[in-house]
Amino acid sequence: MAAHYEFFKVVQKHLEIASKVVDLPSHVAEILSQPKNEIIVNFPVRLDDGTMKLFKGYRIQHNNIRGPYKGGIRYHQDVNLDDVKALASMMTWKCSLMDIPFGGAKGGVKVDPHDHSKEELMRITRRFTHALGSNIGPEYDIPAPDVGTTAQMMVWMMDSYMNRSDDLAKNAQRGIVTGKTVNAGGSQGREQATGQGAVVCVREWAKANSIDLRGKTAIVQGFGNVGSFASKFLDELGVKLLATGDYTGYMKNESGFDVPALFNYNRANGSIKGFEGGASCSREEFFKTKADIFIPAALENQITALEAQWLDVKMISEGANGPTSPEGDTILEEKGVHVVPDILANAGGVTVSYFEWIQNKRSEFWEKDEVEARLEKRMVRQYGKVMVCAHENKIPTRIAAYAVALENLKIAYDERGIFP
Ligand code: NAD
Repeated sequence: MAAHYEFFKVVQKHLEIASKVVDLPSHVAEILSQPKNEIIVNFPVRLDDGTMKLFKGYRIQHNNIRGPYKGGIRYHQDVNLDDVKALASMMTWKCSLMDIPFGGAKGGVKVDPHDHSKEELMRITRRFTHALGSNIGPEYDIPAPDVGTTAQMMVWMMDSYMNRSDDLAKNAQRGIVTGKTVNAGGSQGREQATGQGAVVCVREWAKANSIDLRGKTAIVQGFGNVGSFASKFLDELGVKLLATGDYTGYMKNESGFDVPALFNYNRANGSIKGFEGGASCSREEFFKTKADIFIPAALENQITALEAQWLDVKMISEGANGPTSPEGDTILEEKGVHVVPDILANAGGVTVSYFEWIQNKRSEFWEKDEVEARLEKRMVRQYGKVMVCAHENKIPTRIAAYAVALENLKIAYDERGIFP
């Protein structure tokens, strides 16, 4: 059996290396090396057949020195404490890197959402929210969607949380989650935001290297929220999607997929399985497909040394969190592949989540083009900062992204000191 991938240790190592770049005081590095709170709940849910099942849920609150805890909720059968700790800490770096006044958190339920009906998923979500109780709140800890969770689930979370409060205070609780449907108080442009941000990074890379993206090629792993929208934005720039894949398997089309058709098919069917505009292929074939761009948008630890050797791409924009192992990173660096690290490449989601939270606080609704323009501006600015830091310090882009994030955290700890 393959050794368990120690995701949290990998993230801690990046932190350790980047701490030296910014001369982070050792006591701050120590504080940031562990989450503040680790909440584990076991909660019962009635299934459709009348039986009861006990579920395990997590909410890890890594840090809140720059603002309320913030991070997604994952529904996946492999959810475990170690991974959620890693993902929670990455939210702290991501929000700090993007200059967003949020801290970092992550949560999840150990469940395969494909095994449950809509009604069961609703009861799981509502009961999980109830179990978290006052450990979350619109000014304290604000969940959002992640792998296996949707805007609909965020609406169930919001509704369950709102029902805890007094009638007079109900509406003020709307910002308890972001990534809600627009109808329920979500933001225009939130659903597409992570994919949009990942593709803004592709475009910035192309601009910096005088590359015309029209006619260039891409492969995208994962065709969920991030992967499907990233593919759509790439398609709009004239980039051909040669191969993609999801939990049901991989597919290729040498002349390029009809992305809008694949997007709509996936929406209607919940996966790409059975789409007729491509031929199925193996995971190995997927990774070996020669292309200019690769957007991993599935899970962590997908680009190990093996896949890094297989890959034949010029740049990677990490839509997923933690897709590349340290061994994978080393090989990509040797091959000269430009990597836009996860905490930058997929920061579009949390950035628009922040916009959603502001809109909820002010009871405002911003137009979609306004949201897109604000996101674009911030992505371009922070992409530039990370690349300058990497260049000036002669360090990998991943460490540079951490360094930019740590610089803001360093200032926060310097100004506030340690209580009491
Ligand atoms: P999602 O559930 O909408 O989609 C996940 C996709 O990955 C699905 O197409 C699924 O079939 C596929 N997948 C799952 N297991 C796979 C496997 N073993 N091999 C290949 N494909 C597989 O989730 P999402 O929100 O798109 O998240 C994808 C990644 O992006 C995660 O790492 C998540 O943490 C990260 N991310 C998401 C957001 C967001 O706003 N949703 C923001 C930042 C980062």
